[in-house]
Amino acid sequence: MAGRAAAKVPIARVGQALSRVGTPALVLDLDAFDQNARSLVHQMQVFEKRGPNGKTVALRPHAKAHKCSALALRQMDLLGSAAVGLGCQTLAEAEILASAGLKDLTITNEVVPIDKVQRLAKLAKTEGLALGVCVDSAVNVRQISKELQAVGATIKVLVECNVGQNRCGVETAEEAVELAKVVKAFDGVLDFDGYQAYHGAIQHVRGEAERSAECRKVAEKVVAINAAFDTAGIKCNTVTGGGTGTFLFDAGSGLYTEVQPGSYFFGDVDYGKNDWGRSKGWTQSLLVAATVISRNPSRRTVVVDAGLKAVDLGSGPPLVLGEEQWSFANGGDEHGVVTVPEGDLPEVGERMYLIPSHVDPTFNMHRQLVCVRGEVVEDVLEIDASGPGF
Ligand code: PLP
Ligand code: MN
Repeated sequence: MAGRAAAKVPIARVGQALSRVGTPALVLDLDAFDQNARSLVHQMQVFEKRGPNGKTVALRPHAKAHKCSALALRQMDLLGSAAVGLGCQTLAEAEILASAGLKDLTITNEVVPIDKVQRLAKLAKTEGLALGVCVDSAVNVRQISKELQAVGATIKVLVECNVGQNRCGVETAEEAVELAKVVKAFDGVLDFDGYQAYHGAIQHVRGEAERSAECRKVAEKVVAINAAFDTAGIKCNTVTGGGTGTFLFDAGSGLYTEVQPGSYFFGDVDYGKNDWGRSKGWTQSLLVAATVISRNPSRRTVVVDAGLKAVDLGSGPPLVLGEEQWSFANGGDEHGVVTVPEGDLPEVGERMYLIPSHVDPTFNMHRQLVCVRGEVVEDVLEIDASGPGF
């Protein structure tokens, strides 16, 4: 396929200087990435975040952030025993990560319709793979059990509970128990594992106290769900949730067995607007390298070759690294217009590095990730699951 081959034209070579990498390019600063991984382990272990099982709360980094199996492997290496596996949001992500050798994957989402359930069943057959999936309807549970039975595989099943986001998930604790009973009716094929209580909408509540208060509201719902499961005599091995904005509070509640930060490894402008209080936050590791292709001194603007196909603008404009006064405006698909209010305008051909406003959709636009250590390219990774998922 010509299109695919063209995409494989490398934008960088190992050993090349960062300043020579083709643009626009998605760049990962490996020192910062490694540091973020260490910081996560530190926050889980040193602060003794313990779950209901008495163990340190496990990390399940969410691969939806990067959609790159090579980075997922790197995360597992860096986190060691602090991580149980990866989260995936789409079936395709899980298939691609499994084929790269990841051994523990939870699809934190519903897998529908039947064709995908059949793929899920095939994936569940993968030797040595512990696979989990979320459900919020009995019809989906029955489909999954039927297709798994047909291929002779088993899968871990988590009931997704709506704890405030009003997205997927059963509404009440009683419904969670009812659905768990449906799952348990297929014991031997479906392995009921617990539930997901993730509230994405509160990740970006800016104030630390306000975000913590929102987490307490979620925790109250989790307590009620636990009580309903206790009454029904159903044991939950896993309670999962928690993104970059809330994982410390969720882990600190003593109610979760694992948390799923994704963006934390990279950082973005939107999360940068959160007040992190006493927690350390992250070091910015993800950047989009761009080149000035045009300049207009009378308007005090330059145009860079990174537009809305290279950096997500849905959560606001990116920032220019090291230039707090400069502002980026949408110049179209392949153009960004940067205003430089004072001082020298960059010359045509000069570089700048953009801090994306939102990690996930930015990764999703790229097929190659240029990993640098200092100013030198150490690796070029294929973002092999990029695309909306199928
Ligand atoms: N878990 C689930 C279910 C999510 O939907 C997301 C992101 O949307 C995450 C974890 C990770 O969130 P973040 O990248 O903000 O840490
Ligand atoms: Mn996101």
